[in-house]
Amino acid sequence: MSLSGKTAVITGSNSGIGLGIAHELAKVGANVVINSFSDTDEDHALAKAIADEHGVECRYIQADMSDGDQCRALIEKAGSCDVLINNAGIQHVEPIDKFPAATWDRIIAINMSSAYHTTAAALPVMRAAGWGRVVNIASAHGLTASPFKSAYVTAKHGVVGMTKVVALETAEEPITANAVCPGYVLTPLVEKQIPDTMKEYNMTRDEVVRNVLLERQPSKEFATVEQMGGTVAFLCSDAAAQITGTTISVDGGWTAL
Ligand code: NAD
Repeated sequence: MSLSGKTAVITGSNSGIGLGIAHELAKVGANVVINSFSDTDEDHALAKAIADEHGVECRYIQADMSDGDQCRALIEKAGSCDVLINNAGIQHVEPIDKFPAATWDRIIAINMSSAYHTTAAALPVMRAAGWGRVVNIASAHGLTASPFKSAYVTAKHGVVGMTKVVALETAEEPITANAVCPGYVLTPLVEKQIPDTMKEYNMTRDEVVRNVLLERQPSKEFATVEQMGGTVAFLCSDAAAQITGTTISVDGGWTAL
């Protein structure tokens, strides 16, 4: 499989799953645009490292995915966008009656509405190119719920719904839209939750990983960013041309429970 000559734009990709996807798509020949809200030397160095390692073009474009205009500007600045990966996401864990309203709005904006803005901007570009792939990084929390994650679960269910609508609106075109639903992947987003949980439950790191984080992941193993990238690459392949409007769980059996 080759994505040579195609451009992939990946939101929220200076870290974790997004960065892993950038590497896997570059490995199969795609030119890559990586993104976050920051604009540091490290961000641009990440792009250079991907270009050098895989022999593709890679640019870092700063855009804040909490702002609809900046989401649309990201696609415009990318110039071309054959593959759109909506990946940017944040988390906040608190009971719904204590959940800060501003945090709710921010999670809905970054985790859900950004995908609306980027998709709206990218579809005309894909149509002009005659081919396109939209892959939304949802979550096991796009299909199931957990307490204290109201905004995140709402946003991720919303993304799964939006994926189906985009698939139907592009069904007769050479464009597909799908969502990948990861279980727990050991990234900075998850790593941040470990020290507090160790304190809260008076547990060792291993106990937190096995008994709290991976409690609902029957494999008792984290999924990896490489596996996320490989799944996205498959969805971009010809073999996946008739896969549209669906979800692929990469969750060690979580949603089989
Ligand atoms: P991460 O914190 O490592 O990465 C999140 C990325 O989003 C970072 O690059 C960050 O800079 C970017 N980002 C945050 N706010 C942004 C903004 N306003 N504008 C632009 N970029 C922004 O986390 P991750 O675990 O790699 O998460 C990536 C995606 O995968 C998220 O949508 C997350 O919900 C989803 N996910 C993660 C897991 C997991 O276990 N790690 C499980 C299911 C789903």
